[in-house]
Amino acid sequence: RPAAGAFVGEAPLTVLSRVFGYDSFRGEQAEIIDQVAGGGDALVLMPTGGGKSLCYQIPALVRPGVGVVISPLIALMQDQVDALRALGVRAGFLNSTQDLDERRLVEAEFAAGELDLLYLAPERLRVESTLAMLDRGTVSLFAIDEAHCVAQWGHDFRPDYLQLSALHERWPDVPRIALTATATRATHTEIAGRLRLQDARHFVASFDRPNIQYRIVPKNEPKRQLLELLRGEHQGDAGIVYCLSRASVEKTAAFLVENGIDAVPYHAGLDARVRAENQARFLREDGLIVVATIAFGMGIDKPDVRFVAHLDLPKSVEGYYQETGRAGRDGLPSTAWLAYGLQDVVQQRKMIDGSEGDAEHRRRLAAHLDAMLALCETVECRRVRLLAYFGQESTPCGNCDTCLTPPKSWDGTVATQKLLSTVVRLKRERNQKFGAGQLIDILLGRKTAKVIQFDHDALSVFGIGTELTEAQWRGVVRQVLAQGLLAVEGDYGTLVLGDAAGEVLGGRRQVALRSEPERPARAARGGK
Ligand code: ADP
Ligand code: ZN
Repeated sequence: RPAAGAFVGEAPLTVLSRVFGYDSFRGEQAEIIDQVAGGGDALVLMPTGGGKSLCYQIPALVRPGVGVVISPLIALMQDQVDALRALGVRAGFLNSTQDLDERRLVEAEFAAGELDLLYLAPERLRVESTLAMLDRGTVSLFAIDEAHCVAQWGHDFRPDYLQLSALHERWPDVPRIALTATATRATHTEIAGRLRLQDARHFVASFDRPNIQYRIVPKNEPKRQLLELLRGEHQGDAGIVYCLSRASVEKTAAFLVENGIDAVPYHAGLDARVRAENQARFLREDGLIVVATIAFGMGIDKPDVRFVAHLDLPKSVEGYYQETGRAGRDGLPSTAWLAYGLQDVVQQRKMIDGSEGDAEHRRRLAAHLDAMLALCETVECRRVRLLAYFGQESTPCGNCDTCLTPPKSWDGTVATQKLLSTVVRLKRERNQKFGAGQLIDILLGRKTAKVIQFDHDALSVFGIGTELTEAQWRGVVRQVLAQGLLAVEGDYGTLVLGDAAGEVLGGRRQVALRSEPERPARAARGGK
């Protein structure tokens, strides 16, 4: 086994083949490695699976001293270090899962110059003794992994990341490389600013994942729709199913198992041992499905994940991209499938209204959600929209649902006017607000108990919407909500007029809506 520092001064390509067993660099890896190995700073934006790790591991090996890697993924440090050790690289880590003796051992290795790479949880840098330890040895570089965690705009913000700018003040001559797979223009700028990377070279890889087929469908019976997807296209494949709540994770996993599909749950409420075991099974076995909250997946490197399914709407395009990006790392055809419905929009708008934090924070959450909704409701190529979100121009891809079966759009102006008028009547004539269900019952002229109770059959708008079915109305309400013509208010999901509603009611604005595929007949259903 080579001693620490055995590769100092070697050519990066030699290290690539001798240590890692690969014969060529991918994408911009060679340029990035040269920049950092030569003592310069770098900011690397590269999609998941792009090969970010080598961008700091190789410079750490060819420069004298220890490469210090800051990573929030504490649960993965042991695996990363084991994988490196198996390749003969001297690596260690320090985080809160270790006891004092284990930490002392690693600190001693560091001081004795017996390490090439040291992984550190960001909170270790709050501890002065860690900083003093780094002073006693030689640091070859700082790699800041998952660098988007410094962005307060983002969805993974970690306060400990803010203090990483201090590294540069204390060790001005040590090169820094910040890496992330999440990068809108805004996040990119924020990372560079907060980490004071003003002299860094920026490397921005293409975010396109051409082997992933993006599909977003209206949600009516999510579990049955999921089962159809699995039976029809992904029999025996490994995949991840994301749900918003722990309860729906449990229910969905149980439903799949009842239907003879190998699935395990994963969420933060499970016992740590169960969680670790389920994750290990997923990595080890073929064709296992993990049903999970978004707690699952950061840093998971399983090449043959054939599909990622979302049963609930992700909160942002960044989140959606990152989660779907776990499919198809091996480059083979894979599916990113999302079912979303009216209830998702109502629920998320409610969550934003009720969230902690100031108006600015809520405004940001709302902007993230709106971008996600725009992606769901677009009649254009999904990939074009997705890449545009990351600042990249492209042409229709031919491998997403809207390219494969172009959605019809229809003039929904009159339907929208009817819906908005109903909201207006309830407010003006009765000083009432209601949710989508009651509005649709009124439009369809249904004399339900609740309609009779509130005397809503006496309204002039009662029964003015019979040209559409209930399912079509739900589609209209969802899209009108997504377009901001309606807004959700309060805890009960009641609907009020959005800012631009007046323009539609006044006939100054047309509303284009996407046609919904008709819901399949009950008899055609498989499973339970
Ligand atoms: P990221 O951190 O960007 O998600 P990784 O660094 O985990 O990606 O790399 C993804 C996979 O690609 C890993 O299995 C890695 O070994 C492999 N890989 C990276 N660079 C190369 C290369 N130049 N040649 C072959 N395989 C590579
Ligand atoms: Zn497309």
